[in-house]
Order: sequence, then structure tokens, then C-alpha cells
Amino acid sequence: MTIVIFVVVLWYGGLFFQSFFLHRYAAHQVFTMSKTMERITFILTWIFQGSSYLSAYGYGVMHRMHHAYTDTEKDPHSPSYDANLFAMMWKTKTIYQDINKQRIAVDERFTKNVPQWKSFDTFASSRVSRLLWISSYVLFFALFVTAWWQWLLLPITFLMAPIHGVIINWFGHIYGYVNFKMKNTSKNLFRFDFLMMGEGYHNNHHKFASRANFGVKWYEIDMTYVIIKLLNAFGVIRLKPIKIKA
Ligand SMILES: [Zn+2]
Ligand SMILES: [Zn+2]
Repeated sequence: MTIVIFVVVLWYGGLFFQSFFLHRYAAHQVFTMSKTMERITFILTWIFQGSSYLSAYGYGVMHRMHHAYTDTEKDPHSPSYDANLFAMMWKTKTIYQDINKQRIAVDERFTKNVPQWKSFDTFASSRVSRLLWISSYVLFFALFVTAWWQWLLLPITFLMAPIHGVIINWFGHIYGYVNFKMKNTSKNLFRFDFLMMGEGYHNNHHKFASRANFGVKWYEIDMTYVIIKLLNAFGVIRLKPIKIKA
């Protein structure tokens, strides 16, 4: 039971910081926060994403490219252009690293105001940091496993962020329903997104990329947005006024 709880905490914790910080803040900037809060969020993202930490800069820039080039040859990840899920994951990883290490030239509109904390990112993305996290997951499992099958969950803890990425970027462009007919393949994965904290309303999000709330229908409850509203009410972050733009 302890192991299952541990994996669930890493799943939703890592996912929250991906959705809240990397996606809605770094890439789309639907809210603002102080420099101190931003730094605290960088550190919390590292704690929860652990061995699969993604930098706000690499994620933010690549994700803006996905919105600009959805389902075209220039899309960093698209089931319409990549042969299979693993080919897409590999390509995504390569482009992410090229952006992070500034090996490719990127248009200014993709980099504008994307938060970057270079020294921290270098440390949090280092092999030492990733190996430390992996060792601590292994240790935790060794201490608390009570049945053999629980070991099957261990690789998930190593690769949490890419697993979250692939659920949206692969499945969220193949399976599900659409609220808005668009010139791309984006879908809403679930009517109530219990698994991806609102990221699953991917068709809605492609339609209204600058909206903080990814839910549109009454039943489409966006858990990350619920937390954003609370943080906004407590003055931790400041939501920008709504402007509906496709
Ligand atoms: Zn998409
Ligand atoms: Zn987006």
C-alpha cells in the first residue's frame, strides 16, 4: 500500500507542476507570480519530477512550437508524423535537449518571457541529480515493497514526466471526443479528467490556448485550475484577466 501511495503522490505531484508551472505558467503565462515564488516553484518541480525533471525553458519553448505547428512537419511531436509512440518520445527528447542546450536557432516568439534559472536547471537536469533520485526511489521500494508486482511500478517513477507527456501528446491527438472542430487532431481524453489534472481536455486547450481553465462543459472539471483559483484567492499567484483567443 505504501508503494502505491508513493507512486500516486509522484504521479499527481509531478503532473501538477508540469501543468501548473511548465505548461500554464512558462509556456502560456496565464498567471504571474513573484520572483521568489517562481524560484520556490522551480525547486518544487525538481522535487516532484525528480529523476525526470524538465526545465521550464525547454518545455515552454518546445510547447509553444507545438501550438504554432500542430500536426505539421515542424511539430516537435505529432502522431501524424511520427511512426510510433517511442519514435515520437525520442524525437521530443532530442528537440527538448537541442532547445535547452541552445543548439538550434529558435524564433523569438517562442522564447519571449519564458522563465529560465540556468544554474538551477543545469543542476536539476544533471546526471548526478537524476541518479540520486533514481537511487532514492530504489531504496524506498526496497524498504516498503510488500508484494512482487509492486516492483513493476518502479520504472514509472523514473520516467514520470515523459509518461505524462506522451499521454497528452500521443493519445490526446488520437483518442477522445472534440468540442471544437479544428484543423488539428487534438482530442479531449475524458469527460471528467481524473487522470491528467485537466491536461486531458486537450481539444479545448488547443482552441483556447491562453485560457487558464481547460474545462469548457460543466462536467469538464479541471483540477489544476481549481488549485490555481485557490492560489489566486490566497494571493500566491495572480491570474491574468481572461482574453478568449484561439
Ligand atoms: Zn496538442
Ligand atoms: Zn499548451
